[in-house]
Amino acid sequence: MSPLQISVPHFLFDLRDPVPCSSRPHLFHPSDDNSRINDQSQQSKIARARALCARCPVSTECRDWARKSGECGTWGGETDAERNASGYPCQAHGTEAQRRRFKSSRNKS
Ligand code: SF4
Repeated sequence: MSPLQISVPHFLFDLRDPVPCSSRPHLFHPSDDNSRINDQSQQSKIARARALCARCPVSTECRDWARKSGECGTWGGETDAERNASGYPCQAHGTEAQRRRFKSSRNKS
């Protein structure tokens, strides 16, 4: 098994408090649950993720980093579809479990 190849974005190191997504990582990758939830539930998760991103102090940096990194899921309030439409397609780095772990690792405490 290869080691986890995901790096923590530089803008997270200067924060004093955990970013909002660290406590609810499942909201930020609703498409991973496609087989278990309906569209309404998926849209609800995206809306809740966006609300958390809206009050995050690094939302713009996060969105830009996700675009450049080919991330999947909701980052900086932007979804896969929105990044794709802007010319930054999801490149599906790592497994769903790795991405969830990465989201959780944003909590610095
Ligand atoms: S903007 Fe980025 S770091 Fe902040 S809550 Fe949203 S996904 Fe997390």
